[in-house]
Amino acid sequence: MSLSPEKLLEKIAVYNPGADLNMVRLAFEYARDAHEGQNRMSGDPYIIHPLRTAELLADMQLPTSIIIAGLLHDVPEDTKVTLDDIRRDFGEDIASMVAGITKLGKIKYRGMERYIENLRKMFVAMASDLRVILIKFADRINNLETLDSLPPEKRARIALESLEIYAPIANRLGMGEIKGKIEDLSFRHVLPKEYERIRQLLAETISIKKNYIAGVSKILEGDLKANAIPYLELSGRTKHLYSLYRKLQKYEDDISKIHDLIALRVIMPNVGDCYAALGIIHHRWKPLKGRIKDYIAQPKPNGYQSLHTTVFCEDGEIVEFQIRTKEMHDAAERGIAAHWQYDEDGKKVSSAMKKQLTWVKELADLQRDLEDADKFLEDLEMLKIDVFQNRIFVFTPKGDVIDLPEGATPVDFAYAIHTQVGNKCVGARINDKIVSLDTKLSSGDYCDVITDKNRKGPSADWLTFVKTHHARSQIRSQTKAKLTDWMKNIGPGEKK
Ligand code: MN
Repeated sequence: MSLSPEKLLEKIAVYNPGADLNMVRLAFEYARDAHEGQNRMSGDPYIIHPLRTAELLADMQLPTSIIIAGLLHDVPEDTKVTLDDIRRDFGEDIASMVAGITKLGKIKYRGMERYIENLRKMFVAMASDLRVILIKFADRINNLETLDSLPPEKRARIALESLEIYAPIANRLGMGEIKGKIEDLSFRHVLPKEYERIRQLLAETISIKKNYIAGVSKILEGDLKANAIPYLELSGRTKHLYSLYRKLQKYEDDISKIHDLIALRVIMPNVGDCYAALGIIHHRWKPLKGRIKDYIAQPKPNGYQSLHTTVFCEDGEIVEFQIRTKEMHDAAERGIAAHWQYDEDGKKVSSAMKKQLTWVKELADLQRDLEDADKFLEDLEMLKIDVFQNRIFVFTPKGDVIDLPEGATPVDFAYAIHTQVGNKCVGARINDKIVSLDTKLSSGDYCDVITDKNRKGPSADWLTFVKTHHARSQIRSQTKAKLTDWMKNIGPGEKK
């Protein structure tokens, strides 16, 4: 990683030829001097972090004001230069963005309460200035990129928080690319073994399917040309790792049921052409029943628009097509970030972004005076915000992460660690407090199972509250064995 801002300036010049690059250079030097003598955990000079944050913001093609705030984002918190200095030298607008990030502070993830508190903080920050969240995303992505230099337990915690707070918010803001990036970077640290397994699985599939998809793409191109339907781009897109992992969980790990490992993306000049392309595809290949989705006529709640169809393709293989206009594609990848693109002062608001803003504001208003977390959760529910996906992550005392379904108990946790830990389990501590075995675990909890090696086996009562299939079947087989033994002992003709 270079210590000069040249790469950053080049990136900006590409999408924003009129940008004031001197101002960006000045902000870089200002931040570099302020952080002089400070190092990252990796040992690198500190300025590498804000520089990379700014580069990520340039990748989102954002106006220079946001990029400058990105360069300065850690200055007031970590150096002698104050917010007032920044206000004097860079003006009120940039200073207020930097203030917003400083206010968000360093989130420490521990348990449900902190989780909700952090979510609330994020929403309040978003409501006052959405640009702050974009900088926070870039900041977090670079922290995830450099997570290897932190101790393992801290790594898992930051990655987990990113997966559970940052990624869902990015998703809700329609930022598919950023969401995928945050999820995949976190996935590697939260569930390293699963990550490696999925990575290899995907790599293998790609090597097999690549030529096939290219062939299908050629056929479609031919059909579009023959029917004089204009198109902009046909390309294969590969599924992100974490989203593949989640989908595999839904389908009991059966990869043959997943048809969008590689999807064919069809970018068309306008909406009419999208439907025309759909007709062409269905004319050649038979669509699977119930798999045609018109998100153009009925967009997803986060604004996503596209036509999806899954067809029996060449040689009976199943292939998914995603058809959309360039604008829809841009919006799907970049979400609200797309709306700032050509607007230097970053204040102009498009109608799609107004909708996002209304949603964020509504939420912030709702929870502004509310102290209690339950009410906040209700509000989230009311606005149909899917931040709580239906699984949780629980830490072992060593800092390993166990992935469980919502509602799981210490018994599920114990069986997830090892069958014998489950069988010998007599009690549990959650976050250092002794709890009953049917207590529901929350994401971010630390759980410590108390075992007794003299314990004979699980109790059949546990079947009334366990959530995982694994725990259930273990308890069943163990208690059944005990029953059979007992029957044998009292049965006629049997000797002790
Ligand atoms: Mn930072």
